Amino acid sequence: MDPVGVAAAPDAGPGPAWRTKCPWGAPNTTSISCSLADVMSEQLAKELQLEEENAVFPEVVAVAEGPFITGENIDTSSDLMLAQMLQMEFDREYDAQLRREEKKINGDSKVSISFENYRKVHPYDSDSSEDEVDWQDTRHDPYRADKPTTTPRKGFIGKGKDITTKHDEVVCGRKNTARMENFAPEFQVGDGIGMDLKLSNQVFNALKQHAYSEERRSARLHEKKEHSTAEKAVDPKTRLLLYKMVNAGMLETITGCISTGKESVVFHAYGGNEGGEALEQVAQRSCGCPIPGRSLAVFKARLGDAFSNLNCRVLVVFVLFFLISIYFLIHRMQNAGIPCPQVVILKKHVLVMSFIGQDQVPAPKLKDVTLSSEDMKKAYYQVLNMMQQLYKECNLVHADLSEYNMLWHDGKVWLIDVSQSVEPTHPHGLEFLFRDCRNVSQFFQKGGVAEALNERELFNAVSGLNITADNEVDFQEEIEALEKMNEDHVQNHGKKLSMFSSDGDPPIYDE
Ligand code: ADP
Ligand code: MG
Repeated sequence: MDPVGVAAAPDAGPGPAWRTKCPWGAPNTTSISCSLADVMSEQLAKELQLEEENAVFPEVVAVAEGPFITGENIDTSSDLMLAQMLQMEFDREYDAQLRREEKKINGDSKVSISFENYRKVHPYDSDSSEDEVDWQDTRHDPYRADKPTTTPRKGFIGKGKDITTKHDEVVCGRKNTARMENFAPEFQVGDGIGMDLKLSNQVFNALKQHAYSEERRSARLHEKKEHSTAEKAVDPKTRLLLYKMVNAGMLETITGCISTGKESVVFHAYGGNEGGEALEQVAQRSCGCPIPGRSLAVFKARLGDAFSNLNCRVLVVFVLFFLISIYFLIHRMQNAGIPCPQVVILKKHVLVMSFIGQDQVPAPKLKDVTLSSEDMKKAYYQVLNMMQQLYKECNLVHADLSEYNMLWHDGKVWLIDVSQSVEPTHPHGLEFLFRDCRNVSQFFQKGGVAEALNERELFNAVSGLNITADNEVDFQEEIEALEKMNEDHVQNHGKKLSMFSSDGDPPIYDE
């Protein structure tokens, strides 16, 4: 009997009793034919679809064969980009709404609530301050060693049997420990600095040697990264800014990425116009800017002790101010006739400069080019003169001068990566100069330039100072004493020394 009066499906066919009685009829059991060819073609279709999707929505900005960003493709080429722009706009509006709500609820009340955790863009994520705070306020840092007392020029302090000379084991040990702070920021020195650790000269020298070779190694690693295509991604905010620059006609085409480093990304671009031909340029997401991660710490380390107490917001303002100062740094160098890229425009954290090289190929770094002994000697004297001009005429120290930041183009040396340059009266200015001198001396001495001065002679030749110490430790000690003298002058007179006093003008060397 059919309990609900619905007949069994006509095609139910023979089967168990429940099937014939089932009110919804029999399930359709048509078997699906499944051949290997079908499976393969299905897979092929999936792969093709994936390829197509990848082409339309690239995850990272790879260096493309054709132009990277152009005026034509700007509006419609990437839905992802448009989506990101819309998302950013939405996030900003959402946060603004939250802020309004917050204000309304809090009114003038002394106790306030905060919706900060609900914000889409966190304060240090935003456009003007896109840094991650990875440094601490060092005002009350228990791990920070007290500044060691410097020994006066007479070579000892105290009286009678309490005399302590600069060779005193404890004083030396403390000084050595404090000096570890000057190693490259990447070099992990641990927190022994706050433990009244006394490092013997022998241990300190071994550590210093190691720190120095690590620094060189990391420069070499950076070099490798520059050539690795996997690294050539750029953050969405910079990409957006580059799009806007193309859109506004500041740049015509961005052809690809030349280099990515921990502090900057460099793109090749065409822009401007000369005789109907677009000029080659580089757009550099510049060093010292608030890049997420450690660059703020690096930047803070460069500012020196005098600025170590700045809080993050003030520091961010400093960073922006610093970027603007790059603009003027390069102008100072150009006025002195030092070959370096010309600044075209600075927009937020992107600096557009003239390109040193040709047909999208950057000029080789001094470390990569094989020069004849004559050219090597010529390059040496040119570098020596540039260092002197930089110091004397521009009142600057490059502070990252090495064969990695000098390009060989048109038969001469060009200085790049000048963004970290400081004035000689910077709290560590002379130490930076000494490091530059060491890099330059070693490079040219190894390169077979017999005339190349050693690092101490070069330092004196550039600065016009007459430091007579005949070994590196004492030499550096005198440098630090001069820096200390400058700091004291700042404290007592509220301004820096106009320049370190010298025994006359630095000698100008020539071929
Ligand atoms: P960082 O060392 O901080 O990554 P650099 O300013 O040294 O940044 O630039 C990295 C690389 O980009 C350089 O080694 C050089 O090859 C290239 N480069 C930078 N500026 C220019 C320029 N104006 N012209 C040509 N190449 C450049
Ligand atoms: Mg560099």
